[in-house]
Amino acid sequence: MNTSERLSNLRREIKKRKVGAILISQPENRYYLSGFSGSAGYLFITGKEAVLATDFRYLEQVKIEAPDYRLLEIKQSLDWLGKLAGRTRRLGFEEEFVTVAQHHQFTKALKKAHHHIKLVPFEGVVEKLRLIKEPEEVKLIRRAADLTRAAFEYTSRILETGMSELQLAWLIEAFLHEKGSQAMPFEVIAASGTNAALPHARPSDRKLQAGEPIIIDIGAKLEYYTSDMSRTFCIGKPDETYRRVYDTVRHAQQTAISAIRENVTGGEIDYVARKIIEDAGYGDAFGHALGHGVGLAVHEAPRLGPNSKDRIKDGMVFTIEPGIYLPGWGGVRIEYDTLLENGSVSVI
Ligand code: ZN
Ligand code: ZN
Repeated sequence: MNTSERLSNLRREIKKRKVGAILISQPENRYYLSGFSGSAGYLFITGKEAVLATDFRYLEQVKIEAPDYRLLEIKQSLDWLGKLAGRTRRLGFEEEFVTVAQHHQFTKALKKAHHHIKLVPFEGVVEKLRLIKEPEEVKLIRRAADLTRAAFEYTSRILETGMSELQLAWLIEAFLHEKGSQAMPFEVIAASGTNAALPHARPSDRKLQAGEPIIIDIGAKLEYYTSDMSRTFCIGKPDETYRRVYDTVRHAQQTAISAIRENVTGGEIDYVARKIIEDAGYGDAFGHALGHGVGLAVHEAPRLGPNSKDRIKDGMVFTIEPGIYLPGWGGVRIEYDTLLENGSVSVI
């Protein structure tokens, strides 16, 4: 991974905000900037220096994964922070990730080192850099999406009545792992019949029946990049409601995708899909946002939802996932991962 361009982009932000250094601890941001995939550690980045502080468990891993960083071993206390912060007057931290308890510890460690350092909250700075995917990142998301599509094909082959949601979810998960996925980016959703009316249902021991909707929402993770896709299946002959609801969701999705272009806002695209669902009489049944960015995290910027001002730009990868949920009946959701490239959108 070539982290030097990413680091120089971050350093521009550091300079703009007049801080001497920034402390990064959010796992995806840490990986994005360093290539270090371990589950604990801090990046301490100044205008010139890049330090990775972690504990004994990861020392060898850092040498392999993040050779551009100076490695510093953490031993229990946060004394290292005081030492590193040395001449820094203002130190940035990730306000959306650092807990109140951690903030307290940072303050204590800096005080202990007799520094008068101001902790400056940074909101979404690295996340903003991650918004625009590099070709290499798109390639990995595409591979995760291909694997997810293969899992849907597999699902359609194995679906049968009498199988429980849990059994189905497990078979899909096993398939994804056998074909090379890392840990599931989120728990497999396999929701049948009335359970499909819950957008984030947990698989249960409910047995699949013919004629009812079955929502499968899954993702794969390859080299830390994720996909997030949903399909709605039906065993046997669907009822009249299913046809009407499915056609409406599909129409909303296709129309929204065709409305995507450079600089359109997430709110505007959401409205296109929402209007179609409202006009079909299901306005109240589409209670979540239309989509979200996908990358190292399964939910990241941009946001495509009512009033979202996030502007779609070349290099962004995001889901389009309208749904209709009818309590007592079930639901339909179709979710594609899409990419804006050279001003035009494609499903990946
Ligand atoms: Zn999903
Ligand atoms: Zn999603």
